Amino acid sequence: MRYAFSVIFSILIVALSVCTVKAARSGKALGPSVALLLASLIPPMAGNLIIILSSDLRLVTVGRYIYFLGMDMVMFAVTRFTRAYCFPTAPNQKLQTLADLLLLVDAVQLLLNPIFGHAFGQQEMVVGGRVYYALIPYAGQTFHRAVDYGILFVVILLFIIKSIRCPRIEAERYLVILAAMIFTTIWESVYIFSSSPIDRSMIGFGVFGLLVYYLALNYRPMRLLDSMLANIASELPESLFFFDTADRCIWANKPGRRLVGVVEDNYDPVRTVLEKQLGPLEEIEPDMIIRKDVSSWEGARSYLLEKHSVTDNRDRPIGWFMSIRDNTAEHDTLLREQYKATHDALTGLYNRAGYERIMSIVDPRSGFLLFFDIDNFKTVNDTYGHETGDRVLQKTAAAIQHNFRAVDYICRIGGDEFVVILTWADVRNEEQIALRIRRINEELQNTDDGLPPASVSVGIAHGAVVPDPDRLMEYADEALYETKRNGRCGYTFYRPKPGENAGQTAGTVKNTGDTENQKLTNEKTDS
Ligand code: GH3
Ligand code: MG
Repeated sequence: MRYAFSVIFSILIVALSVCTVKAARSGKALGPSVALLLASLIPPMAGNLIIILSSDLRLVTVGRYIYFLGMDMVMFAVTRFTRAYCFPTAPNQKLQTLADLLLLVDAVQLLLNPIFGHAFGQQEMVVGGRVYYALIPYAGQTFHRAVDYGILFVVILLFIIKSIRCPRIEAERYLVILAAMIFTTIWESVYIFSSSPIDRSMIGFGVFGLLVYYLALNYRPMRLLDSMLANIASELPESLFFFDTADRCIWANKPGRRLVGVVEDNYDPVRTVLEKQLGPLEEIEPDMIIRKDVSSWEGARSYLLEKHSVTDNRDRPIGWFMSIRDNTAEHDTLLREQYKATHDALTGLYNRAGYERIMSIVDPRSGFLLFFDIDNFKTVNDTYGHETGDRVLQKTAAAIQHNFRAVDYICRIGGDEFVVILTWADVRNEEQIALRIRRINEELQNTDDGLPPASVSVGIAHGAVVPDPDRLMEYADEALYETKRNGRCGYTFYRPKPGENAGQTAGTVKNTGDTENQKLTNEKTDS
């Protein structure tokens, strides 16, 4: 029995020594106070070992002093650990000083025992067939117990207060230490009120020390971490959905729950709702950002989707998560800016940049380019003012717009100049084009709206007719110049000059415009 206890004490002493060194080297804020606590447990444990093993009265007496003074050291260390663990920022200086003072008085009175014999005496008895010196407690010993117990109770009380007052999720941190302390105290009390001569309570203290070492330095409060991460994830603006390896949704953050309408933490319908809007989730390519335009969630919206797999620390897949960011506002802004960049604010037609963008996309050989310029527009401005000029520009734009098809590109490339690009039209459409221009001029001549009469001159070139389709605009401009030269309010189809490498349909074009405006200028020199 005595040997069994001595083996346990020896193992605990070794374990405490190892953990003391580890705690001291941990580099953590709690490291020094945990190391002090563990180190302080070694002397009373060693004292106990001596008491149990020795049958020599002097050695046993030394063991007793080591044990009693060691317990005072343990209490000294416990108060320091409690301060570091529970009140790292608010020092509890007064309580600490009182405890230190009591421990000092106790140590002194214990050391005076050899002179006064007031603290304890020892009685020889036989345990396990060998001589054992059991303790006979006197007043000094009672004081010693009162001090150590008193301090332990105050410490336990502080842990209880702390675990009640702190946020519920943090209470775990205090409750685990509290449980270890109460466990040790009960163990100690059982010993005191039992008749066993061997103090087993030190085993409890040793285990307490090791528990504190683990809980204070190595224990990670997973629940706390979990809820912190969940909180952070919930405050993110994007919707997050977590799936297990069986592709079942296990959690969504606040925006995610709102997006799919999760009620009462039931994530079962999440996958179905998402797939109804986004298509099969397994078809979404992982680790890429993709845009999805969705029309039924809160009207037309644009979403950015990201899918990532999650692995554990050994790289085994444990599930995946998807983030959905509502990109509608940014997307709309982008579209609006793109629109603004390519459109003319006054008429709503494509502007110069829009025109260039169109020309970079369409095949110039596939259709006509019509170049419009308002006649004597300066005079309109000068006579009726700039505002009326603007209204004439708008009227012209409207007239061009409703005389051409929705598929035609209509641009205001500057001042009073407009361009119409008719794709997929050939020379057989010339008659139609001429008719439309005549109609536009009829409308502009009409003064029912209170605006002064206006007219346009037009130059027209087909990409298959001109020598170099990439310079279609220049040929149309050339034709426009001809219209102006011939008296304005009309149109001219560009015709290649003899010897020019004309497109395949050149020469077959039949011009049906007004006679004075359609004369072609083969004698005109190239600029
Ligand atoms: P032409 O028949 O030879 O074309 O004579 P024009 O007077 O129309 O001469 P031109 O085409 O060179 O004149 C364009 C004028 O358009 C010059 C400028 O004052 C006017 N202008 C340009 N932009 C605007 C605008 O945004 N609003 C108004 N009201 N006038 C503009
Ligand atoms: Mg003009």
